Amino acid sequence: MDALTNPNAANSTPLTPIQFLERAAVVYDNSPSIVYNNLTYTWRDTFIRCLRLASSISRLAIGKRDVVSVLAPNIPATYELHYAITMTGAIINTINTRLDPRTISILLRHGESKLVFVDYQLTNLIQEAVSLMPNDCAPPQLVLIIDDARQSLPSDQFINTYEAMVVTGDPGFNWVRPDTEWDPLTLSYTSGTTSSPKGVVHSHRGIFLGSVVGLVEWFVPKQPVMLWTLPMFHANGWGYIWGMAAVGGTNVCLRKFDTSIIYNSIHNNHVTHMCCAPVVLKMLSEGKPLQRRVNLMTGGAPPPAAVLLRTESLGFDVTHAYGMSETCGPSVFCAWKSEWNRLPATDKARLKARQGIKTIVMTDVDVVDPESGVSVTRDGLTQGEIVFKGGNVMMGYLKDPEATEKCIKNGWFYTGDVGVMYPDGYLEIKDRSKDVIISGGENISSVEVESVLYLHPSVNEVAVVGRPDKFWGESPCAFVSLKDDKVKPTADEIMKFCKGKLPGYMVPKSVVFKDELPKTSTAKIKKNVLREIAKSMELVVKGRL
Ligand code: ADP
Repeated sequence: MDALTNPNAANSTPLTPIQFLERAAVVYDNSPSIVYNNLTYTWRDTFIRCLRLASSISRLAIGKRDVVSVLAPNIPATYELHYAITMTGAIINTINTRLDPRTISILLRHGESKLVFVDYQLTNLIQEAVSLMPNDCAPPQLVLIIDDARQSLPSDQFINTYEAMVVTGDPGFNWVRPDTEWDPLTLSYTSGTTSSPKGVVHSHRGIFLGSVVGLVEWFVPKQPVMLWTLPMFHANGWGYIWGMAAVGGTNVCLRKFDTSIIYNSIHNNHVTHMCCAPVVLKMLSEGKPLQRRVNLMTGGAPPPAAVLLRTESLGFDVTHAYGMSETCGPSVFCAWKSEWNRLPATDKARLKARQGIKTIVMTDVDVVDPESGVSVTRDGLTQGEIVFKGGNVMMGYLKDPEATEKCIKNGWFYTGDVGVMYPDGYLEIKDRSKDVIISGGENISSVEVESVLYLHPSVNEVAVVGRPDKFWGESPCAFVSLKDDKVKPTADEIMKFCKGKLPGYMVPKSVVFKDELPKTSTAKIKKNVLREIAKSMELVVKGRL
């Protein structure tokens, strides 16, 4: 055999993250894999349960490239189904549990889902969604997931229960390996902040690379204890569903959480790792100091430096990552340099608020002029579109070649995010293309204005959007929710606070107080809704509403 003409049969078996579980069942056989209320499974249990379930799923004539959906919170079944479904050769499609029935019906139809596993608290949601599906498409079969021992089916629409399928399945099932590493593994719909949801497809190879690199970049050791505060349905828990099997971690599942549930669980389960969006980070930043430090990864939206500073002071070692459904989670990490440890805490927080640098499986990440594709000057000021190429980029959008070609072109994936590149090669997001405010010909980064507003002691949450302005074209309008303090600042005071901290044209010309800001189902602030409100508002006095 000629060593210069590879690949050969021994070195080219398809990469797949499913094999992590097979290995975990041997290496971490008696160690905990999943902890949920009073229930604990070991890695051997999890492997066997997934094989049994996979055999039951394949008995329903589900196989290669069929789509199987999951509508459930962060419970053990959601974790297991990532393996059991894909062990049959099928594609896993996790559905955001906060979506409305109409959207769910659209996704089920678009993905041609054959089977849906549904949590017992979401039966009305799925039944309504299925009833909204047009008559010309076959509705999916439904399986009920029940948390406790009750084994009753709420209606004959459900063909079986989850546990019954596990119990009756074959533990010797020969799981279906991919033909090539490019076989599809996951179908995840984007949350639709900028357009209607699109079905992102990732291959076994993409997810393998994404989950391994997530461990490397976060320095995850063997047998961590992961608290699932990130929805598993959000880009498959940023790849850590598979990653935890690779390192034999313990997955602490939570059906619902608030600050006190999280703090209790951290304490009781000796949690070492957790991921969450900046909104949850903000919630945690109002808690008490931890007894032991916890590694926390945040991403999904820009974390303000002020929130990073507070959370770190409580004992969370925060890692900041950036990615999207199209890159199976984080592909850019704010890789920490040891020399930064010597800096004052505020400088550290400012550096950490930058999104960072490509992971080791990305060939390149750059900020370019979207028209010419030429890299912008690395001065931390010149804005451009963030582009990616490398192992984490999706295969494409399901049944949407047009949308795929729009973002994958000239050998790059165009993210639609606006950023700057610093001289040290680290990038920072300034906005999403659609959120940039253009005032008097100047581009205003809403994220930059927000980061200053977050420094105000009374501000709870803030989002800045462009508001139509006869003179300037657009002007920045800040929507603010305040903390529950007795002293409430006025709109004028908020504006004054920004003066001197921002150039004049970036200071909000209007401030609107709201009890709560509208959020998407992945906890991102709905700027499109706020823009509509801003558009319809009457300006009473210049600079005031
Ligand atoms: P959707 O595009 O529908 O919101 P995603 O959950 O895939 O669905 O969101 C990806 C987007 O979230 C990115 O394009 C980016 O705008 C934003 N994002 C993700 N991580 C970060 C981060 N660390 N900082 C700022 N924005 C982020």
